[in-house]
Amino acid sequence: MDEICEKCGLPKELCICETIAKEKEKIRVSAVRRRYGKFITIVEGIGKDVDNKKILKELKQRLACGGTLKGSVIELQGEHRSKVLDALKKLGFSEDQIEVA
Ligand SMILES: [Zn+2]
Repeated sequence: MDEICEKCGLPKELCICETIAKEKEKIRVSAVRRRYGKFITIVEGIGKDVDNKKILKELKQRLACGGTLKGSVIELQGEHRSKVLDALKKLGFSEDQIEVA
């Protein structure tokens, strides 16, 4: 008999617990207009297990823009929502877990 997952009771090969846990980490990408009409792209919800500083550095490099880390929230100068989505996918995040507002 197959091994059974203790959480969902399904055979291990059908278990989706890990996938669900991963998908719970929803990343939200939005853009807001700040003073002087300048846009800032905000990336929220990157998990604690992920190195936000490294992500920020990668995003700044790939998008060639300035940015800061405020707590766990990444703020990038300019409107880069679609580029951020591409960059996050290249950094190993799945498109399903990224919500672009
Ligand atoms: Zn399971």
